[in-house]
Amino acid sequence: MHQLLPLFRDLSFLKGVGPSLRKYLEKLVGHTVWDLIKHLPSGIIHRNFVMDLRRAKSKDQIVAIVQVQGYEQKSPKLPLTVVCTVGDQILNITFFKTYPSSIATRLPIGSARLVVGQIELFRGQWQMGHPYFIGNPDEKDQWVGVSPIYPGTQTLSQKMISKFIAQGINMTPNLPEWLSQDLVARHKWLPWKQCLTKCHAPESEGDLLPTNPARQRLAFDELLAYQLALKMIRHENKSPVLIDPLQTHQAILDRAVQTMGFELTPDQVRAFDEILKDMTSGHLMTRLVQGDVGSGKTAVAFLALVLAAANGRQGAIMVPTEILAKQHFKTLKPWAEALGISLDILTGKDSAPRKREVQENLENGSLSLVIGTHALIQNDVSFKSLSLVVVDEQHRFGVDQRRTLAQKGQGVHQLFMSATPIPRSLMMTIYGDLDVSYLKSKPAGRKEIQTTLISLKRMPEVIQGIDRALKSGEKIYWICPLVEESELSDLAAAQERHAFLQGYWGDQVGLIHGRMKPAEKEGVMQDFVEGKLRVLVSTTVIEVGVNVVDATIMLIEHAERFGLAQLHQLRGRIGRGDKEGHCLLLYDYALSPNSKARLAVMRETTDGFKIAEEDWHLRGGGDILGSRQSGLPDFKFADLLEHKDLLREATFMAQDIVAQDPNLEKPQHQNLKILMTLYGHKDSKNYAQTG
Ligand code: ADP
Ligand code: MG
Repeated sequence: MHQLLPLFRDLSFLKGVGPSLRKYLEKLVGHTVWDLIKHLPSGIIHRNFVMDLRRAKSKDQIVAIVQVQGYEQKSPKLPLTVVCTVGDQILNITFFKTYPSSIATRLPIGSARLVVGQIELFRGQWQMGHPYFIGNPDEKDQWVGVSPIYPGTQTLSQKMISKFIAQGINMTPNLPEWLSQDLVARHKWLPWKQCLTKCHAPESEGDLLPTNPARQRLAFDELLAYQLALKMIRHENKSPVLIDPLQTHQAILDRAVQTMGFELTPDQVRAFDEILKDMTSGHLMTRLVQGDVGSGKTAVAFLALVLAAANGRQGAIMVPTEILAKQHFKTLKPWAEALGISLDILTGKDSAPRKREVQENLENGSLSLVIGTHALIQNDVSFKSLSLVVVDEQHRFGVDQRRTLAQKGQGVHQLFMSATPIPRSLMMTIYGDLDVSYLKSKPAGRKEIQTTLISLKRMPEVIQGIDRALKSGEKIYWICPLVEESELSDLAAAQERHAFLQGYWGDQVGLIHGRMKPAEKEGVMQDFVEGKLRVLVSTTVIEVGVNVVDATIMLIEHAERFGLAQLHQLRGRIGRGDKEGHCLLLYDYALSPNSKARLAVMRETTDGFKIAEEDWHLRGGGDILGSRQSGLPDFKFADLLEHKDLLREATFMAQDIVAQDPNLEKPQHQNLKILMTLYGHKDSKNYAQTG
C-alpha cells in the first residue's frame, strides 16, 4: 500500500504547518494529509478583475492592480490608510493594528501591487479593509474567478486552509481504479483523484451540493469501504464455527437482579432474555441494545457480564471516556462484589504499575470483569478467556476498534449499547443485519419532564424563574449554543454566559467545556454532583451517560440550532431522581414557523424514537446525521439522506463481493484493498499482510 503513504503523512509534513498551526488544523480536520483533503469547501467566492472602479459595486470581491501613492495615519491608535489609485480612481486600503514597517514592504510607495479583497463605498470613496491577499501583478490569474471557501476557525484563515489543501492535493497520488468499469461507466464517474480535485475546485454553487457527480463518486467509495468492512465482519461471525454455548446459571442471575435492588422493566427483561438466548445458543451474538438515556442499559449489560463470569469466562465493557468508565465502575463494583465476582477498571490515565496489575490479572484469569476505555484495545492487554465484550456508546468507536477488542478472545459475544434513537429503516441499511433489542419502557419512578419553549427575549423572566428554583434547592444545567463550527467561539459564548450568571449567583455557577482536561471536567462534575455547584454552564460536552440524579432543570439556549435527537439526549440528563424535570428551550426571536414546529415536537413527546423519526422527516435527517452523537459513522463525503440510492447500491455490491470473495483474493478485487486501507478498514479481514 506504499501508494497511500503520502496521504497518511502527518499534517506537520506540509510546508508552513508548524507545531502550533498543526494543533488548530488537527482540531479542524484530523491528523493526516488525507484527513485534510477530506475537508470540503462549504461555499464559493467570485472575484472579478477590476480595471475601472466605476464598474464595481460596493461589497464586491475584487482583484485589482493598484498604484501605491502614500500613507495616512492620524495617530498610532487609528487605522492606517494606504492611498492607492486604480486608473484614475482612488482606492483607500485600510489596516487596523499593523506595523507601518510591514506596510512599507508590502505596499511600497510608487509600486504597482496586486490586491485581493472586498471593496466598499465609504463616504463617497472606495475602500478595502485588510486585503485578503497582496502580491505581484503577475499573480493575478490565480485570484480571478471562483475560489472555494472552507469551514475554518478564527486562527486558520481561508488563505492558509486553501494553501494547505492545495499542497495536499498536489501530494495526492493517482490511485488505480477499484470500481468496476461497468459501474464507473454507468454513473459516468471520473477517476478518484480527478473527483477529489474537482470537489476542491467548485465552479458554481451547484458544485457544492451532494448531487455533484464528483462528490457522488467519493461518497460511493466511502460507503462501499464501510459496507465492505461491515459485511466482512459479519461474514466472519456468521461462519459456522460453533462455539461452546454458555450455561444459563439461573440462580446467580436471580441473585444479580436482587442485588441491583430494583425490579427490571418489562423491556429490560425481554432484552436480557434475547441476550441469554444468543449467548447460550452456541452461535456468536452481535446485538445492539437501543434505549434512551436512563432506560437502564447498564443493568442489562451487567446481567450479560454476570452470565459470562458465572461460566468461568471473562467479560469487558468498553466506554468512550474516563468519566464514564469511572461512573460505571462505581455502579457495578458493589453489585459484582455482592455476587463474589471480581471487577476492575483500566484506563489510559492509570499509573503504570496499576495498569500492569490489571493486565496481569486479565491474562492469568484471576480477574473476571473489566471496565475500561480505549486502553482495553491496546496490544498489551490480553485475556485468559474473554467471552463477552460490551461496547457502550458504540458509535463513538470505529468498526475496527470494536472488532479489535472482540479479537482478544475466541468466540467472543458482542453487545453494543446506544442511546441515540436511529430510525429503524436507516439502522437496517447502515448496520445491516445486526440484532436489536429495544428498551422503551422507563424504569419505575422516573418522572416526566415538562418542556417549555421560550423566546430568548424573555431572558429576564427566565433568570427570575431560575432564581426561584435555586432557592428551593434545584440543580440546573445551562447549555450554551453552538455558535459556528468553531469550538473556540462556542467556548467564548459559554465563558461569557458563565460570567454573566455568576453576577447573579456567584460561586454556585460552574463551567465545563471540551477544552478542559478530563481531570478538570471530572472535578467540576463532582462539584455539581455534591452540590457545591448548582448551575452548570456547559457547551454540548456533557458526557453522554453522566448521571447527576438530582439535576432537575435543563435550559438550552438557541435550541433551534440543535438537532432534535441532540436536544432529546440533553434533556435525558434530568428527571432521573424523584423530582419532576423541566426543560426550557430558549429560541431566537426570528424563528421561522417551520423551525418552531420542529421544536414543538420536543414539547409534545419524550419518546426518543418518535423524535428521531420526526427529525428525520422534518429536517431531512441533517441533524441526526450531522452530529457526533448521531449514532452513525462520521462520513465525510456521503450524506445518508442525499445519497440513499448510492448507499443501497454500495450495500448490495459489498454483499455480493463478500459472498463471492470474502478475503478479497480475486484479481479483480485487489484494488478494493487500497480503498479499504484508505478508509481505515484495513484490518477488516487481516489482508494487510498480503496486500
Ligand atoms: P442508560 O445507560 O440506559 O442511560 P442506566 O443503566 O445508567 O441507563 O440507568 C439509569 C439509572 O436507572 C441508574 O441509576 C440505574 O441504576 C437505574 N435503573 C436501571 N434500571 C432500573 C429499573 N428497572 N428500575 C429502577 N431503576 C433502574
Ligand atoms: Mg449508559
